Amino acid sequence: MFKAEAEQQGTRLNLRFLGTVDETFRLEAIDPRKVKELHVHCKGVVRINSMGVKAWFKFFQAVQGQKIPVTFHECSTAVVEHFNQTQGSLAGAKVESVMVPFSCDACHSDLVGFFRVEALRKAGFEVPPLDCPKCGGSAHLDDFPDEYFGFLKKG
Ligand SMILES: [Zn+2]
Repeated sequence: MFKAEAEQQGTRLNLRFLGTVDETFRLEAIDPRKVKELHVHCKGVVRINSMGVKAWFKFFQAVQGQKIPVTFHECSTAVVEHFNQTQGSLAGAKVESVMVPFSCDACHSDLVGFFRVEALRKAGFEVPPLDCPKCGGSAHLDDFPDEYFGFLKKG
C-alpha cells in the first residue's frame, strides 16, 4: 500500500513517499502555478512493483513535461534499484542523497548508511566502512558499487 504526505513550503512542494509503490500509487497532478520545485523523500519506500513502476513513470514524466525541477532525497534501496533498472526513470531529476546497504563483517547484521551524492562523487563512489552499532565490527557495502551507483554515474 502506497502513502504520500505532502507539505507545501512557499513554492516548494515536499512529498514523502511511504510503503510499496504499486497500483495504489496515485498523486494529485501538480499545479505549476503553485509549485516551482518538487522535493521527493523516498526513505520510506520499501518496494516498487511493476504496476508501481508504470504509475511512477507516468507521474514524473508529467512533472518533467511541466518543467518543474525534481530532487530526490534519501532514496531507499528499492528506489535506487528502480533507477538502475528502468531506463529514463529519473526523468531529468536530480538525486541529492541515497540510502546504502551495508553488512557487518563480524555479526552479519544489515545496516543502512546515508550518503549525499555530492560526497559520493568526490570520493569516486568509494564508500568508507561503517561501525556496526551491534558489535562494533566493521560493516562494508553490501552490493557492487558499479551496479548500485550506476544510475548516478550515467547522469
Ligand atoms: Zn556487527
